[in-house]
Amino acid sequence: MTLIDSLLIDGTAAALVGGRWHSGSARFPVINPATGETLAQVVDLGADEAREAVAAAHAAGADWKKTTAKERASLLRAWFECILAHSEALAELMTLEQGKPLAESRAEVVYGASFIEFFAEEAKRMAGETLPSHGADKRLLVLREPVGVVAAITPWNFPMAMITRKCAPAIAAGCTVVIKPAEATPLTALALARLALEAGIPEGVINVVTAASPAAVGEVLTTDSRVRKVSFTGSTPVGKALLAQCASTVKKTAMELGGNAPFIVFDDADLDAAVDGAIASKYRNAGQTCVCTNRFLVQDGIHDAFVEALAERVASLQVGDGREPGTVIGPLINQAAVDKVQRHVDDAVAKGGRLLCGGHPHPLGHSFYAPTVIADVTTEMCVAQEETFGPLASVFRFRDEEEAIAMANDTPFGLAAYFYARDYRRIWHVMERLQYGMVGVNEGLISTELAPFGGVKESGLGREGSHHGLEEFTELKYVCVGGL
Ligand code: NAD
Repeated sequence: MTLIDSLLIDGTAAALVGGRWHSGSARFPVINPATGETLAQVVDLGADEAREAVAAAHAAGADWKKTTAKERASLLRAWFECILAHSEALAELMTLEQGKPLAESRAEVVYGASFIEFFAEEAKRMAGETLPSHGADKRLLVLREPVGVVAAITPWNFPMAMITRKCAPAIAAGCTVVIKPAEATPLTALALARLALEAGIPEGVINVVTAASPAAVGEVLTTDSRVRKVSFTGSTPVGKALLAQCASTVKKTAMELGGNAPFIVFDDADLDAAVDGAIASKYRNAGQTCVCTNRFLVQDGIHDAFVEALAERVASLQVGDGREPGTVIGPLINQAAVDKVQRHVDDAVAKGGRLLCGGHPHPLGHSFYAPTVIADVTTEMCVAQEETFGPLASVFRFRDEEEAIAMANDTPFGLAAYFYARDYRRIWHVMERLQYGMVGVNEGLISTELAPFGGVKESGLGREGSHHGLEEFTELKYVCVGGL
């Protein structure tokens, strides 16, 4: 039996509410973007079922928060091991519903599972503190308590890791969760929940509400007073709308939103290392990564050599179904994603951009797009302002460090930035002046469970990963013990 088959009840993948598989009457298809085939029908839930899931999470929370850190740690560890035991099936599932090459799906299983392993360990280090007192007869304590029910609303581009990055610290802290996965990739979420039950995580601690159109479920998750934290990863416009909705019940929020990452190549950079970093940062997941480079800023002296080397490498990237050996660029998630890349390409070319390779949908059809490089890009073009979210590298030119910093920071976003240089003074100065939550110095891949992931400005609020990621799911309670 395949992992998809194990999720089906009467031909439909059911949602998980309070430990029971919920197969409502409405359903929606999950499409393989590489072939256009329907992989499965998934139950389409609405506001009532979202409220049921919140009630289930709330009820389960009463016992869950009383468990010891060691008990939570060992259940998380069991979930981690269960995932690793099914890693190949999970990787295949992600390639089928999201399209990324199998090698990247395998890497996402390892990355996604690493959050569970890390927070299983970190659960045991969630300490409070005692503080110096303001009176001889008083003692001051600071307790760290779980926030309560957490709603996790996640995107399609990392169907597994965006869920584990939220759920593992929440569960470690003693919270219960309601997951609302992206409509394009609900099967991975359901598979993870099934494995959590198998691992012994109690019913109601993890709930999954699948929906074809998210607004009604989102309304419940952001306004029900029993939900105490909304942790969202997705686009900035949706994040802003959810923040506004959360205001009515003053919830804690974590917002992991869009980016417009600059990748700066200075004249003194190691050219080969910069091109390797550029390919890794830009073309992973066909450019559908929030920390993907969106703008290459390249200094005059190295510009032509960099552009030539980049275009040569990009033209040779193998496009195909993620299940085929050798594929490095899979399909985009859907036709709308292809249309957005084409709009950015057409706009750049119309305004004087120089197309070096690609620039059109790939002959494979469906939502495949040819990896593209455009040089002579300027700030008036759409690619300078908007996240392309596809396999398009747009290259700007600059004269000096001041100009590069000004260009890099000239965006409302502030998620990730990268730069390549060798001069150590420049490395310190540039790193300090970039207005971003994360900076890669001579490095194009920066994500790890060990470090705090998140952005500034309109890229979001809060951090995921590292010990900071656990603290986000706790509240501090100050206790003053008097009369001693
Ligand atoms: P999206 O904002 O369209 O959707 C994200 C999630 O929100 C999905 O589950 C969707 O169903 C849900 N959603 C949409 N409208 C909603 C509503 N009204 N109420 C409740 N839920 C709603 O984003 P996407 O297209 O799935 O993902 C791509 C975006 O995510 C990009 O902008 C990317 O940069 C960003 N992203 C950010 C990070 C990060 O960590 N900062 C990571 C991955 C992706």
